[in-house]
Amino acid sequence: MSARADVAGVPVATGHFIANERVDSAATFTDRSPLDWSLALAEVSRGSAADAAAAVGAAADAFPAWAALGPAERGAYLHRLAELIDANVERLARVECLDMAMLEESLRRRVIGRGARNFRAYADLATGYEGRRWSSHGTENHVQRMPAGPTVVITPWNAPFMLSTWKCAPALAAGDTVVLKPAEWSPLSCSLLMDLVAEAGLPPGVFNLVQGIGEEAGAALVADPRVRRISFTGSPETGRAIGLAAAANLVPFTAELGGKGPFVVFADADLDLALERAAVMYDDAGQVCLAGTRLLVETPVYDEFRARLIERARSHVLGDSRDPATTVSPLIHPDHLARVEGFVERARAEGHRVLTGGRRWRDDGLWYEPTVIEPLDNGAEIVQREVFGPVLTLQRFSGEDEAVALANSTRYGLSAMLFTRDRARADRVGARVRAGTVWVNCFLVRDLTAPFGGTGISGVGREGGDYALDFYSDLKTYQVKEGTTHG
Ligand code: NAD
Repeated sequence: MSARADVAGVPVATGHFIANERVDSAATFTDRSPLDWSLALAEVSRGSAADAAAAVGAAADAFPAWAALGPAERGAYLHRLAELIDANVERLARVECLDMAMLEESLRRRVIGRGARNFRAYADLATGYEGRRWSSHGTENHVQRMPAGPTVVITPWNAPFMLSTWKCAPALAAGDTVVLKPAEWSPLSCSLLMDLVAEAGLPPGVFNLVQGIGEEAGAALVADPRVRRISFTGSPETGRAIGLAAAANLVPFTAELGGKGPFVVFADADLDLALERAAVMYDDAGQVCLAGTRLLVETPVYDEFRARLIERARSHVLGDSRDPATTVSPLIHPDHLARVEGFVERARAEGHRVLTGGRRWRDDGLWYEPTVIEPLDNGAEIVQREVFGPVLTLQRFSGEDEAVALANSTRYGLSAMLFTRDRARADRVGARVRAGTVWVNCFLVRDLTAPFGGTGISGVGREGGDYALDFYSDLKTYQVKEGTTHG
């Protein structure tokens, strides 16, 4: 019997999941709750290079049979898994809330369910794929997808369940076998997912999990020469390290990295809507890569927006993420809180104006107050670097050209938001903004078939829909001389 921890009444296995067996490491790391740092949730297996090799070996052994199944049969397994996720939303939400402090209500209402949607969407998309067919040069041409092989998926601590399923679902649907390594700061929901993988009856080795530290288990996984795809979500710094490992083995890799999204409010915007959306940037304590953290507001409405934004920021309710009244949760980890504090302290020392917030909420917790900073100049660190906390900067601009120049002035390019009542302006500015996703008068609306990724240091490659299924496949051109008959 492998080790399990009791997390709010839910038994969570603390070991790896390799070839449908739980495997415990002798070494462990302590997983704590951001809601109460004195609360040790679990002693989790600290994966070694040997554990990583065993998991990749299981994925390599399982690959030929899984690849041979075909999309419809694989899709049937993935639909079963999606049903089990839906049936376990309560347990998953409870554990994820304690583990990374996302608001329990939003986990229950939408975030965990998105995991099920991820599996359904990719199962159906892969099954419906026909591949382009055409005639040329006296031949029939057909584009076909070949499963690529064992795939390593490495995910960050924010939204671990949603992001892991978002990346693993297309890999499995495309016919690849997977080794998932979730982040060491929030490892538990992915372990619960593996219980559901076993219950859904996926063949051993198709979907494996290794727990552990990035520089140990993670580094060993991405360096394994048997791996044929690497899919990563996390910081640009780790993305670079993983990119080098991928290059060493000539393995295609995709990276969804950090963001510093511009949130552009034109004078003709619906200000109520823009302010309501701006306040959402404090959700999950600002630990959202897609957030529009640089508020750029056109001069005629700047003062009004500024005053109302401060009011909005102050009206947030900080508290326990299990309490439905709470709107801002604590940060994930004391180290991360210190990092966020460091950004704000340096900004203050450089003379940038902290309009509201700018401090811890309580000495005995990991909360940080919703903060607005008015920088003196656009080159400030607080404007140029991702904070990944409840900290927004507020700057003014005049006219479209300056809006575009400011929007494009960082090295990131993940998302951008534009607020205007003028569709023509939105289209003009939207075309000039460098970002993987541009939302006009909305935020976080996601169609899973759309491409998703970043430009600049926000990412390499695209996921989403067919883009992800193509990435997890080797595309084959199948060409037959016209007139070749069936024997
Ligand atoms: P991180 O880069 O520190 O860690 C991410 C994962 O990489 C973890 O599982 C970690 O264990 C692993 N890792 C670390 N070093 C490794 C190595 N050398 N080899 C292999 N694996 C290694 O990121 P984080 O702090 O967990 O997450 C926050 C970052 O993620 C932010 O920058 C955020 O913007 C970004 N993010 C991006 C998206 C997106 O879709 N673009 C989504 C969520 C988060």
